[in-house]
Amino acid sequence: MATEAQADCLFCKIVTGDVPATIVRETETTVAFRDINPQAPTHVLVIPKVHRPDIAALAASHPQIAADVLTTAGEVAAMEDLVDSGYRVVFNTGSGAGQTVFHAHAHLLGGRGLNWPPG
Ligand code: AMP
Ligand code: ZN
Repeated sequence: MATEAQADCLFCKIVTGDVPATIVRETETTVAFRDINPQAPTHVLVIPKVHRPDIAALAASHPQIAADVLTTAGEVAAMEDLVDSGYRVVFNTGSGAGQTVFHAHAHLLGGRGLNWPPG
């Protein structure tokens, strides 16, 4: 079942604690942790605890949890003092857009100037 932990999924293992991560916030439905290869002074990944391969699949099956991901991203942005300076929330969706981990996740980036459009 899609909502159960996937044995071969890195982010499911972070949810269960089998893979360590620097967790900055955890809610009933989400986990936020620092990206292992940060692209900005703040680079936090926000994931649903349920396994879905991307944000569109999550929004289709669990719309409230998709909203929870955004709520947690906003809370972490406030915790990281990014509200005044601004920040970006990105969902790479599909390998052509740079998605490498197929468990839905938001990238929260901030703490430096961010160019537009992204590369
Ligand atoms: P994406 O390329 O959009 O799928 O994003 C996956 C992100 O996961 C990349 O930014 C990686 O640096 C990050 N990442 C991979 N392994 C880990 C890990 N063990 N802990 C934290 N972040 C990770
Ligand atoms: Zn997963």
